[in-house]
Amino acid sequence: MLLGKRLAFPFSTKFQQAEKGVVMIFRQLFDSESWTYTFLIADETTREAIIIDSVRDQTERELKLLEEMDLKLVYAIDTHVHADHITALGRLRAATGCKTGYSVHGGVECADLSLKDGDELTFGKYTLKVLETPGHTPGCISFYVDGMVFSGDALLIRGCGRTDFPGGNANDLYHSINDKLMTLPDDTLVYPGHDYSGKMVSTIGEEKKHNPRLALDEDGFVDLMNNLNLELPKQLHEALPANKSCGEGI
Ligand code: FE
Repeated sequence: MLLGKRLAFPFSTKFQQAEKGVVMIFRQLFDSESWTYTFLIADETTREAIIIDSVRDQTERELKLLEEMDLKLVYAIDTHVHADHITALGRLRAATGCKTGYSVHGGVECADLSLKDGDELTFGKYTLKVLETPGHTPGCISFYVDGMVFSGDALLIRGCGRTDFPGGNANDLYHSINDKLMTLPDDTLVYPGHDYSGKMVSTIGEEKKHNPRLALDEDGFVDLMNNLNLELPKQLHEALPANKSCGEGI
């Protein structure tokens, strides 16, 4: 009786899917060295999987998880050329035969796919859409799929990525966040590339209300971003060149 009532509720699409056991496979993984979130998403029927923002030191963990869950990795993609860790794209491709992808603006020739705004990657019955969100780096992209956005270092929870690396641009980031990410539905789940306080997920609506950087106008945002005076990441000088070769050849 109760079950019948719940299934009749018009806004319970996700819940109905859960009842039927057909929700997308989703795993959020963490690298404690670089504070990076890696995401594994997969179609529960075809077992086709995508890994977003992998970390080279965690390659064995990801390969074991894929094997345990009987998943076939079809794409390994990064939101941007990271400065704080080395990507596992090359190793995952060598081990699984998956296709690797970066933004067309990332300056990375090792990747199989040069992704641009509006591109779509299909895995099973799901479609991941590419959103160009430059600013943290010129080649930053976010990925939207099934009510979730993987925002890399463009939009963080209650913050945003820094813009003081080579090619970073605070004006671009302002527009990526306000004109693009904030046009997603308020209930879109936001999964950033990092969080340094233990938060794992937010929503677009929650960030609109509580992210202090979204309360600033463009001039105020740019002024703040240009005066953060942050320390450089520990792995910067190793990570940037390594990531241009998909984490291989160094
Ligand atoms: Fe970054």
